[in-house]
Amino acid sequence: MSAKILVVEDEPAIQALIAVNLKRAGHEVVAALDAETARRHVDEMLPDLVLLDWMLPGMSGLEFARRLRGDARTRNVPIIMLTARGEESDKVQGLTTGADDYVTKPFSPKELLARIQAVLRRQRPQAAEDALEVNDLRLDPVTHRVTAAGRAVNLGPTEFRLLHFLMAHAERVHSRVQLLDQVWGDHVFVEERTVDVHIRRLRAALEATGHDALVQTVRGSGYRLSAEAAEQ
Ligand code: CA
Repeated sequence: MSAKILVVEDEPAIQALIAVNLKRAGHEVVAALDAETARRHVDEMLPDLVLLDWMLPGMSGLEFARRLRGDARTRNVPIIMLTARGEESDKVQGLTTGADDYVTKPFSPKELLARIQAVLRRQRPQAAEDALEVNDLRLDPVTHRVTAAGRAVNLGPTEFRLLHFLMAHAERVHSRVQLLDQVWGDHVFVEERTVDVHIRRLRAALEATGHDALVQTVRGSGYRLSAEAAEQ
């Protein structure tokens, strides 16, 4: 499972060591020496995971984690805190701030990679290979097959990814911007109304069996896939 990982670490030697190992494992790495630079990176691209040093010059890693959690766009981006501290109280503080895991320096690259994989698997159910099913609508990520009430549904690649994401995060409302980030990746050159176009195509493909009703518009907020009837 390869991911776009933002590494925020002010010690150049440690940053370089982490970057080399992540790249070797197939990940894409963006690095920053401080939280201010990291914030600019986050504005430009939504990382799949943030590796965040606790002790940074200027804004601390803890404060940066708090800000990521406070912003709707970055709320669900997993964070692994890196720290030289091994105190239990610090660990608790880090985890309550919203970090998903905590790695104490010095760590082995192997251990760090294992932790990253574990957090990614937990945070990105759509990346897992399990088939998803909602009300007789079934999507198999391995074979790329979608069936509705047992009948094959033909979807374009974007509609497939869109449905995959919506099914993996069923019942939750996603704004167009969040969908662009999660389904299209880098959304810089894609307009928000593109999402509406693909939602329309997805609904059309599901119409024959009535499963288009699962793909719901939440006025003023975005879209959601729900097994419950939409409120009017
Ligand atoms: Ca540091």
